[in-house]
Amino acid sequence: ADDERVRVALADRSYDILIGRDLLAEAGAHVAALGARTIGVVTDENVAAIHLPAVAASLRRHGLTVETVIVPAGEKSKSFETLGFVVDGLIAARVERGDVVLALGGGVVGDLAGFAAAILRRGVRCVQAPTSLLAQVDSSVGGKTGINSPRGKNLIGAFHQPSLVLADTSALDTLPPREFRAGYAEVAKYGLIDDEAFFGWLEANHAEVFAGGPARTRAIATSCRAKAGVVARDEHEHGDRALLNLGHTFGHALEAEVAYDGTRLIHGEGVAIGMAMAFRFSAALGLAAPADARRVEAHLAAVGLPTSPKAVPGPLGGPEALFRHMQQDKKVERGRLTFILAHGVGQSFVSRDVEAAQVMAFLESEL
Ligand code: NAD
Ligand code: ZN
Repeated sequence: ADDERVRVALADRSYDILIGRDLLAEAGAHVAALGARTIGVVTDENVAAIHLPAVAASLRRHGLTVETVIVPAGEKSKSFETLGFVVDGLIAARVERGDVVLALGGGVVGDLAGFAAAILRRGVRCVQAPTSLLAQVDSSVGGKTGINSPRGKNLIGAFHQPSLVLADTSALDTLPPREFRAGYAEVAKYGLIDDEAFFGWLEANHAEVFAGGPARTRAIATSCRAKAGVVARDEHEHGDRALLNLGHTFGHALEAEVAYDGTRLIHGEGVAIGMAMAFRFSAALGLAAPADARRVEAHLAAVGLPTSPKAVPGPLGGPEALFRHMQQDKKVERGRLTFILAHGVGQSFVSRDVEAAQVMAFLESEL
């Protein structure tokens, strides 16, 4: 009843994101409409144990042949080795040109299975069935797929837009609370970028978003609509899409600083700290009011997200170490740091005018 549909309109094709409760139990109906025969379901061990039976049963009820490839859970699966395992599994399962790869899982599975679909037989269609909040509001939308290189995250991949996204909001009921909170940082991000009304709505309704039901569906749909809009304007990431990196320059540096140790910091937590830092930095530069930075911190803290690098457990390097990671970030262009700063909540912008000395002084004050 509270289902939503977000249309992603691209230059040459379009697809739907369906958002609502219990969509996975009806996956067969939606996937059968695409006219495939064999569905290669790629998922991870955690999600397979909880959600695969219902999905497979629904696909079979609709006359589809179901083949599954299950990978270990976790970022390590975004590797050439696991990609080879997935592609080989799909070939062995006779997933052919007209068939469909269904990515059932969080962002790791979505990126990995999406990339496998992009290169299998020079491209087969992919349905994204994201089961983490982060995947529902971010990674499953936009067509970026790929794996990690030993030299850095997300350095290998392809743009491969899905044919359909099925975001089952009830699947999030089984997500570990820490993962849900981390995904929520990306939800709040869309408000902070350019939608103050949405941020205000989140301030009033975050408890319902965490609880499930219509508020959760609405938050996810609003997030998908925001991302779909950015993707439609800038499918291959030449400009506009940079705003989506709000909080990510600082966040990625912190993730790198803990060597991607998820026991210390997971991506969305880094983004939460990074967004709070971006607002404090904006205030320090005289671009935003200090009260705006405090408002951002207060909301993130209200849902249990960290807002300061001091909240990261264990020792962190100093300002120089963080600064080095920021310079290695792939968003650095011709030696100039790119920051997403803000004039206020919902008023973010891309800045290439920040001096290294200003960054260092700010980092000194943060650590
Ligand atoms: P993830 O896929 O590792 O999922 C987090 C954990 O939750 C895993 O242990 C997983 O098994 C488990 N899980 C997922 N759904 C569950 C459910 N419903 N119930 C119980 N457990 C569940 O991590 P993530 O945060 O979803 O995604 C992170 C990845 O997304 C990163 O690799 C990142 O690079 C990528 N990403 C990609 C894009 C893009 O545009 N392609 C954007 C943002 C992030
Ligand atoms: Zn992110």
